[in-house]
Amino acid sequence: MTDRQRVLILGGGSGGLELACGLASGGRLDVTLVDRVGAHVWKPRLHEFAAGTVDTSLSEISFYTLAALRGFRFEQGDVARIDRAGRRVVLRAFSDVKHEAVAPERALPFERCVVALGGVTADFGTPGVKEHAYSLDGRADADAFRQSFVAMMLKARATGEPARIVIVGSGATGTELAANLREAEHAFFERKGHDDRDRLLRITILEAAPEIMPGGDAKLRTQVLQRLDALGIDVVTNAKVSAVEAGLVRTASGATYPADAVMWAAGLTGAPVLKDLADFEMDRKGRIVVDDRLRTTVDPLVYAIGDAASLTPADAKAPLPPTAQIASQEARYLAKALSEAVHGGEPAAFAYRNKGQLISLAGAGTVGILGSRDFIVNGRFAKAAYSALEREHQWTVLGPVRGTVAILADLAMPTRGPALKLHG
Ligand SMILES: Cc1cc2nc3c(=O)[nH]c(=O)nc-3n(C[C@H](O)[C@H](O)[C@H](O)COP(=O)(O)OP(=O)(O)OC[C@H]3O[C@@H](n4cnc5c(N)ncnc54)[C@H](O)[C@@H]3O)c2cc1C
Repeated sequence: MTDRQRVLILGGGSGGLELACGLASGGRLDVTLVDRVGAHVWKPRLHEFAAGTVDTSLSEISFYTLAALRGFRFEQGDVARIDRAGRRVVLRAFSDVKHEAVAPERALPFERCVVALGGVTADFGTPGVKEHAYSLDGRADADAFRQSFVAMMLKARATGEPARIVIVGSGATGTELAANLREAEHAFFERKGHDDRDRLLRITILEAAPEIMPGGDAKLRTQVLQRLDALGIDVVTNAKVSAVEAGLVRTASGATYPADAVMWAAGLTGAPVLKDLADFEMDRKGRIVVDDRLRTTVDPLVYAIGDAASLTPADAKAPLPPTAQIASQEARYLAKALSEAVHGGEPAAFAYRNKGQLISLAGAGTVGILGSRDFIVNGRFAKAAYSALEREHQWTVLGPVRGTVAILADLAMPTRGPALKLHG
């Protein structure tokens, strides 16, 4: 073994990119990050990009620039599989924008590998979702939805018939998107001082469970429900969607909801590629099972973090949920633990610290629970706490000096009202 072991990180999202920056800053490892796209977008803001309530230009960072800045290598490509015996990762042939293959299949050697390929929205096999619904798995999804939203709003203004958006799923993504769309509606009003009769947009959230945000805290749920109501957003519970058709959502009870656009935000599974990567142990949500050092159960030199990983803490019955908060804590842990392991140490186990849950409902404020204790925060304090996760991410990725400059630039930009982004 040399001091410059090759570490391959697959996926440059919330977890993978933070890990690449953390590992490379030590200078003792040869770190390569692989992603299918050339720029990093912080996924927890996708609903704001979709609604157009924030400008993506401040939130997108080129992997190529970051690699030079932070001292890792970046390899753009689509991960196909991990050849565990040969200690290499295979990337598919690379195609250009015209879908013509321009570079053949490639193989990247490694001594240690970290899978951080994230997750995708689960449609649970519901007919019509793939054909007729949007989801929020990446930047391209948010852009496609925003373009259609703008067209719907212009049509609504021209015809006087409100556009109808149905959101399936009442978790953080569904409720936050609904609130941001209500906020975005303001940009299309023809006059100031409009009232509810002028509505250009009807928003309905459908939830299969008897209450919104299933599994969430009861007090938080009540707060969110009150705020959605104040925003004029309809919430229907016990509404299990059985099919999505062109212009229509059907539920198992036979109810139908006309829709100009449907956003499917009803759950998450591991990225489809995970099950074909190698012979990993998988959980029932398609995620790779890892031990308390984030090592895959079949190979101690291959790790998994974030939405791609299934980690059940010793005192828990179920695996940790897919959140950026967890992906980031795992990345920070592994940046230390992996370096220690490479140099012959025995790192301590990963310990997750629940910092709480915050829901940002645009004009209706931010509400949430801090820590694992049962108290609700709201107002400016909650808004600041909500932003803290992204601020931490910017600091980790850009370093203290550039991170501070980026944060100040971000703060100087209005992200509400007239700053609405109306194009791709
Ligand atoms: C709208 C929305 C709001 C959210 N809000 C919050 C929040 O407020 N708080 C919170 O904690 N969490 C939130 N989340 C969840 C959070 O975004 C995810 O849990 C987190 O991004 C997971 O990080 P990750 O690194 O595991 O994966 P990701 O961030 O999804 O990154 C995966 C990376 O892998 C790349 N990739 C995928 N497949 C391949 C392949 N085959 N080859 C090469 N590259 C590939 C992708 O391009 C991507 O860069 C939100 C999610 C959404 C969608």
